[in-house]
Amino acid sequence: MQTPAPFEYERATSVEGAIASLERLGSDARIIAGGHSLLPMMKLRLANPEHLIDINDLHELSYIRDEGEEIAIGALTRHVELLDSALLAEWFPVFREAEQVIADPVVRNRGTMGGSLCQADAAEDLSAVAAAVKAKVVIRSTSGARTISMGEFHVGPYMTAVGEGELVTEVRIPKRPGGGSAHEKVERRAGDFAIAAVSAAVWIDGGTIADAGIGLSAVGPITIELTRAEELLRGRRPSEELFAQAGAIASEDCSPSADGRGPADYKRHLAGALTKRALRRATARALHQEA
Ligand SMILES: Cc1cc2nc3c(=O)[nH]c(=O)nc-3n(C[C@H](O)[C@H](O)[C@H](O)COP(=O)(O)OP(=O)(O)OC[C@H]3O[C@@H](n4cnc5c(N)ncnc54)[C@H](O)[C@@H]3O)c2cc1C
Repeated sequence: MQTPAPFEYERATSVEGAIASLERLGSDARIIAGGHSLLPMMKLRLANPEHLIDINDLHELSYIRDEGEEIAIGALTRHVELLDSALLAEWFPVFREAEQVIADPVVRNRGTMGGSLCQADAAEDLSAVAAAVKAKVVIRSTSGARTISMGEFHVGPYMTAVGEGELVTEVRIPKRPGGGSAHEKVERRAGDFAIAAVSAAVWIDGGTIADAGIGLSAVGPITIELTRAEELLRGRRPSEELFAQAGAIASEDCSPSADGRGPADYKRHLAGALTKRALRRATARALHQEA
């Protein structure tokens, strides 16, 4: 049986306390939330933190709130809460669709929004969702809070912009009228990480695409924001031909590697086909909203 290297454990009782511990302990410390990504890595000795700061008692970081112009999601919000949220289902059904295909109830009961984004695994679903809906991430330290876009958040495979002494506290999503969103995933078996997955969000104004967001999972070293296709879509009337062009861009702009989940060409093909499908369904929802 694999066991982690020895570590010190502390259970934070406040956000300020967790941040103070992170600052004091520097690079030797790691936050533990659901533990579903960190613990397997520790058991394999791919991660060897000397101190774990457990944030599971920080209930103030667990919420999905309507804040008028934005929806705010606390970093400790569990997958199951994202799955069950009526507010998210109304504004961003992409969350529910992604959560229905993330792992299994055991993982969904513990794994968190913040942990998923901070893990920065390119095959993870929620980062693509967050990229598509143009979410921003709030990061706190002793010097205050900063808010960054998903494009700035992921800086490399398993690497984020979260620095020493910093804690992700919240994800904020702008609520804009005329929106629709959808998640498409192909996996080897139910609950597995994606062979390829695509999240799409579309905002329609007067029959025209006012804005679009597309995030690709598992087809490159990090989550891909398909900015070239987003630009193509803006200001255009939705059509099958337009979605096919966006799909072609997805196939061109992704950079999958061959692995146990499939050959690179197959993943490239999936990126295109799933982009087209996700856009089609997101647009149908947006048009329904607009009607
Ligand atoms: C069997 C299995 C199948 C899975 N399948 C899928 C799948 O299909 N799709 C998918 O998307 N995911 C999948 N996952 C991953 C799952 O979603 C994890 O729960 C998630 O990736 C990590 O969330 P966590 O809360 O468990 O994070 P943890 O494991 O606790 O932490 C992960 C990383 O984030 C850091 N961290 C956590 N919270 C914060 C914070 N607030 N601020 C700063 N740093 C923080 C930790 O220090 C650590 O580095 C699967 C996991 C398992 C075990």
